Amino acid sequence: MELIFYGAAKTVTGSCFLINTGATKLMVDCGMFQGSKKIKERNYGDFPFDPTDIDFLILTHAHIDHSGLIPKLVKHGFEGQILSTGATFDLCSIMLPDSGYIQEMEIERKNRKLRRAGKPLLEPIYTSNDAYKSMKYFRTIDYGLMVSLNDCISARFIDAGHIMGSAIVELWIKEQNQTHKLVFTGDLGNFNQPIINDPNTVDEADFLFIESTYGNRLHDDDNRDKEEILYNIIKETFEKGGNVIIPAFAVERTQDLLYSLNNLIEKGKLKGVDIFVDSPLAISATEIFCRNIQYFDEETRIKYEVSGECPLFLPNLQFTRTAEESKQLNERKSGAIIISASGMCDAGRIKHHLKHNLWRQESTILFVGYQADGTLGRRILDGEKSVRIHGEEITVNARIENINGFSSHSDQRSLLDWVGKISNPPKKIFIVHGEEESSLALADKINQIFDIETVVPDYLESYLIKEDLNVEPVTIPEQLISKLTIEELRGYYKELIDKLDSMITDYIDEEKYNELYEKLRAIEKLAS
Ligand SMILES: [Zn+2]
Ligand SMILES: [Zn+2]
Repeated sequence: MELIFYGAAKTVTGSCFLINTGATKLMVDCGMFQGSKKIKERNYGDFPFDPTDIDFLILTHAHIDHSGLIPKLVKHGFEGQILSTGATFDLCSIMLPDSGYIQEMEIERKNRKLRRAGKPLLEPIYTSNDAYKSMKYFRTIDYGLMVSLNDCISARFIDAGHIMGSAIVELWIKEQNQTHKLVFTGDLGNFNQPIINDPNTVDEADFLFIESTYGNRLHDDDNRDKEEILYNIIKETFEKGGNVIIPAFAVERTQDLLYSLNNLIEKGKLKGVDIFVDSPLAISATEIFCRNIQYFDEETRIKYEVSGECPLFLPNLQFTRTAEESKQLNERKSGAIIISASGMCDAGRIKHHLKHNLWRQESTILFVGYQADGTLGRRILDGEKSVRIHGEEITVNARIENINGFSSHSDQRSLLDWVGKISNPPKKIFIVHGEEESSLALADKINQIFDIETVVPDYLESYLIKEDLNVEPVTIPEQLISKLTIEELRGYYKELIDKLDSMITDYIDEEKYNELYEKLRAIEKLAS
């Protein structure tokens, strides 16, 4: 079978992997690329594969970097089945139309300029209507249930403990009377996360595809003391007469924060504070959470049953749905906790709150989630002294804080622990869904600790899994070549020759010479 990495390879977003058995084409995730302008380009134009060819799409969870291009897939002719858990379906039914609406608004803004310039207009990647249409291809499957997709492929979801409904995918694929097991972790949750269960483990896998968002980092103390740190930040900010602005993903992070704030209120620490959730999507997601009590962990379920009320609806909580209500928050100078999306600050209402609070040294901007390269959130967190928001230069005077403990991803230690629990270890581990240095760091650790071979695949790279379970890279993907200009290809060739030259001069290890020789022979074969 062939594996192709169409996203989340040496980057966090755009999760999309294709398995081609010859008879069946099965895709895991179809996510949107987020972050820098260059990476977002990949969302536009045609897919690097034919959507009409795909038989099944297995969706690990509802986050847009995993689900966000589903409406585009359907718009471009996909007619197969989309398999997900029930909660993922519920969440996608609000997140995908919301994403479509964002595309429409973005294009409308660009088209206004193009119209004035007399240039041809652009089309959105998809509309909210396309998103609604794509929902009919979903088929929901409970955790732990083994389903056969056809004679050769079976699949099972187990709890990934990342967001409500998130799943690790186990796939059994039969080829020439041999069955191979592939496991995709999707995003693997942080242990002891509020509301949902801890990630499940798997017994065995022939090939593992593991995320590496925090492959080179540890959450450490933040994990233990996050509510205490949160409390201190709020207290100190209010004493100075400012607001606490929290950019948070609408799904899971917002609800985790509400849960922690509720704990602080119940302990009598937070009194009389005004908490605002200023994101229509986060409000709808919170309602979906409260309807899906079967996905809660025991602690949260008991809390719900004892009080008879969803622990996410806390006193003093105000949901601001309309743009008018949201704008009123701009007048608010102190004593407010404002949780708003997007989590990485590159769209949505959070930008208004940043505009009104970033320049004020009394206020605090509190990050509680991953900030991808190139996003406004990352730039603020990296200490930029001035940023542009809605075309206006805003100076950064506010206190900038970051609590890693709210992360809904495993850190390096938890990822390694998780791998260590596989009693029948994989033949090879593909490290995905991480910035390059993060994926490489995790790959190194796995090599050292478990002596398992690892691969950090690149965008559009493909691999053949042979009958004897050996894995062979398919050199330079065709799609990549067709996109390069001849000058780029020549530049690449020159660089490569230099690299090879220094490799030959510097190597002292005989085995490496042979390895290099084999690889050069493979290129020679490709050229002839
Ligand atoms: Zn996720
Ligand atoms: Zn993700």
